[in-house]
Amino acid sequence: MANKNITVLGAASAIVKGMGVTLKEMMSPTVTEFYPEEPPKFEERYRGAHVLQRDENGLEKCVACFLCAAACPADCIYIEAAENTDTVRISGGERYAKVYNIDYNRCIFCGYCVEACPTDAITHGHGFEVASYNTSTLIKRKEDMLAPIPPGAKPPVVTEEAAAH
Ligand code: SF4
Ligand code: SF4
Repeated sequence: MANKNITVLGAASAIVKGMGVTLKEMMSPTVTEFYPEEPPKFEERYRGAHVLQRDENGLEKCVACFLCAAACPADCIYIEAAENTDTVRISGGERYAKVYNIDYNRCIFCGYCVEACPTDAITHGHGFEVASYNTSTLIKRKEDMLAPIPPGAKPPVVTEEAAAH
């Protein structure tokens, strides 16, 4: 009998607790997003489309170490490395990623690549509009992901394009 009473009391307390959460939510202000008229708000840690970061001089942070590709469980990162030279300096390290592709047909936004990167070159941005009816457009290239050169970046920032002219 005592056990039965404890069970009933436990169930009643759970119901009261649950109703408390419901009432609290009912009293909270309603949050309405006006997407697509206005961009939605994301939490800082939201894992959206990737961004390849630059340093304060505009050099690419990626040094083509392949650790992100090795950590990726979906095998969706493809990198081709090249050496920096006296006339072409793309990154702060010895090498840079001449090709850096992420296949969003396969990416599961797990963030392992971001965790693995020793230079904080690959990060998750807040981009989320990656859906497409054409899967070939879901392979994003370095040029699609590269952060813009920061304003006031100091030379020398020698790009492959500049060196070619
Ligand atoms: S988020 Fe995960 S699946 Fe996507 S590229 Fe990075 S490691 Fe691979
Ligand atoms: S993004 Fe980071 S982990 Fe990946 S190759 Fe570049 S430096 Fe290495």
